[in-house]
Amino acid sequence: MKLLWCWRCKMDVPMLDDVEFARAKELYSLGFKITTPDRFKPLLDYHNNLTGFHIADDEYNAIMHHQISQYGPECENCGKPYRTSLASFCAACGNKRTM
Ligand SMILES: [Zn+2]
Ligand SMILES: [Zn+2]
Repeated sequence: MKLLWCWRCKMDVPMLDDVEFARAKELYSLGFKITTPDRFKPLLDYHNNLTGFHIADDEYNAIMHHQISQYGPECENCGKPYRTSLASFCAACGNKRTM
């Protein structure tokens, strides 16, 4: 888990590493197999306990893009992660990436 800027949420959020994310993804797909209204509660509980960061009940989808490896490294200029590992410039500050 690492606190990183999320350009979708427009704030710093805890991003999961691949091991943590694999478990979250499992709970996410499990939620689709259940029909009760609190079907994503195990995912939210897992995420909120792991990160100490509270994601609202109806925002469980956001967890699925909070994976460190979905983003590039941190921008040399502003410290926010590149949107993808292949991005050639920083969408946050316009810094051209030195590859
Ligand atoms: Zn986000
Ligand atoms: Zn930048």
